[in-house]
Amino acid sequence: MRIPARCRGRKDHMTRKLFVTTALPYANANFHIGHIMEYTQADIWVRFQRMLGQQVHFVCADDAHGAPIMIAAEKVGKTPQQFVADIASGRKAYLDGFHIAFDNWHSTDGVENHQLSQDVYRALRRNELIEIKSVEQFFDPEKQMFLPDRFIKGECPKCGAKDQYGDSCEACGAVYTPTELKQPFSVLTGATPVLKSSEHYFFRLSDTRCITFLEEWTQTPGRLQPEVFNKIKEWFAKDEDGKGGLGDWDISRDAPYFGIEIPDAPGKYFYVWLDAPIGYLASLKNYFDKGAAAANGEPRSFEEFLADDSVEQIHFIGKDITYFHTLFWPAMLHFSGRKTPNHVFVHGFVTVNNGEKMSKSRGNGLDPLKYLGLGLNAEWLRYYLAAKLNGKVEDIEFNADDFTARVNSDLVGKYINIAARAAGFLSKRFDGRLSGDLGVEGRQLLDAMRAQAPLIVELYEEREFGKALRETMALADRVNAYVDQHKPWELAKQEGAEAVLHDVCSVCIEAFRLLTIYLKPVLPALAGKVESFLRIAPLQFADASRALGAHQIGAYEHLMQRVDAKLLDQLFEPPAVEKISPGGEDLAAEIKIDDFTKVDLRIAKIVAAEAVEGSDKLLRLTLDAGEGRLRNVFSGIKTAYAPADLVGKLTLLVANLAPRKMKFGISEGMVLAASHADEKANPGIYLLEPFPGAQPGMRVR
Ligand SMILES: [Zn+2]
Repeated sequence: MRIPARCRGRKDHMTRKLFVTTALPYANANFHIGHIMEYTQADIWVRFQRMLGQQVHFVCADDAHGAPIMIAAEKVGKTPQQFVADIASGRKAYLDGFHIAFDNWHSTDGVENHQLSQDVYRALRRNELIEIKSVEQFFDPEKQMFLPDRFIKGECPKCGAKDQYGDSCEACGAVYTPTELKQPFSVLTGATPVLKSSEHYFFRLSDTRCITFLEEWTQTPGRLQPEVFNKIKEWFAKDEDGKGGLGDWDISRDAPYFGIEIPDAPGKYFYVWLDAPIGYLASLKNYFDKGAAAANGEPRSFEEFLADDSVEQIHFIGKDITYFHTLFWPAMLHFSGRKTPNHVFVHGFVTVNNGEKMSKSRGNGLDPLKYLGLGLNAEWLRYYLAAKLNGKVEDIEFNADDFTARVNSDLVGKYINIAARAAGFLSKRFDGRLSGDLGVEGRQLLDAMRAQAPLIVELYEEREFGKALRETMALADRVNAYVDQHKPWELAKQEGAEAVLHDVCSVCIEAFRLLTIYLKPVLPALAGKVESFLRIAPLQFADASRALGAHQIGAYEHLMQRVDAKLLDQLFEPPAVEKISPGGEDLAAEIKIDDFTKVDLRIAKIVAAEAVEGSDKLLRLTLDAGEGRLRNVFSGIKTAYAPADLVGKLTLLVANLAPRKMKFGISEGMVLAASHADEKANPGIYLLEPFPGAQPGMRVR
């Protein structure tokens, strides 16, 4: 296999050592589609590198500090630590659900980050890059606290955009201090803030050493995308009066603040943006210290690993945090004697546009957990996002119709169908054994497919995922043309065409295996199913140059469904009711009347009730549901009712529930009772009873 251009000439080009991160999510909210897009982009790239045999450490962490979290925690009566822990506990469902395989997930409030941040600061101070200045800062006279940048809004001093935060402008990307905002107001109270003086600590980014270093660092060929470099040039530029250019960076905040204390500065904390990127290193250190890296064939310590010049440090980020990652971050690292990033890969935003279904007032974007909860396949979204992604800083748009078309026609129609069309004949006629010959045309097709591997590798390397998938689907088209030309379903009916049928179906399976290699970074779970269907080891890119030969494959089982457009409609339906928590429990997902009528509820008379020996929860009920026979049902209501009190009463029975074999016998249905979600805190079980007049056997609807 050809080695991508970037790796050529490397001393040890056999194995690259990659330290890869995604931006740290702020721990005040659950993930949205933008997070899932970034993690998917990085995860695909990481999986691709691993399929080339590269060594990758892929880490992230929650960005835990700052006034917004402190204030949000205070509002709900939690400590900031508890607030952040609660958010963090929800992360796994998203990451597992979308097959995003970080090696480590940590928190910027971890001990490693406290220590590393203070170390970086001390080194910058030794280098005389820290300066203390008395600054006038906005103070909320009603709330009696200095206002964090995000709690002051006003007009951008550069472009005049309204309703911008105090630290940076979302319209033009400018970074400034809150006092530069025009028409400022406190987000907490609406009050006009007053200026109050306080000592602040600054990182001297305007120092000529920093500027010289950053000019060289940002210009290094291949380090940054061209459009990112062009943006940075604007930030470097000074106007005719010598104003503008890189300014010093205020890295301190006054107590009260949830963050890391500045050494030798009582009552002062690091601004959250100082310790957030250091969280990349802290998560990596935490990973090494746990010994998890050693199990991955990487025996060395965090310090030794980063001291290795051949290690490539790579950050995937959104375009809104480019300034922090391409100026502050490399300067902090360099002047504290540390390795600087080899690449910062910047992506655009994802917007969700469903025509009329989407509107801001209805407030419904694409909720990733709702997506999973509806049973939509995570790999459909991975595929769709990948098909839209490239190596540039471009926004991408989610469109439901486009999503359905790409998944159904490309993924299922072109790719999955190849296996579906060939596997049946192979297992029925040839005991699943592939032909070793394949025929001239088949071999030519497969050779042509293999010849595309270096191109597809290069496209993945450059994060041109959309192009990689288009090349792959073009190959799938060629395979389908081959199938249509040879028509295995007709060969199967012809006398004496057995050998040709065998070759054609074997070519399909071999082609399907090659396509699976090319798609595996995007579709890891599906590739796993394909590997077990084909009875092969986990696929690597090097496997593209090999052939299966007369290998025996397993039985084909359906690999992927088509998108059900109804489910997508549901995804974008606004919630029918305000979210409430009756009985301490969120409402279950909405169902249609058809779903409800599947449940056959009947009135049943309790003709006998007795305790179950050996169980402290169950009662055995004998029920008459008007069927001319009696049913045996076990019910967990022993703590609430004495058996004698139940005999003769009517209740509700789920009559068409599949019989369930229990330790004490078979339960033929279930009786209905109400209880609080947290039975320990709110004990009590209440069996349902119909109004007088109901008869056994009546249906409840
Ligand atoms: Zn602006």
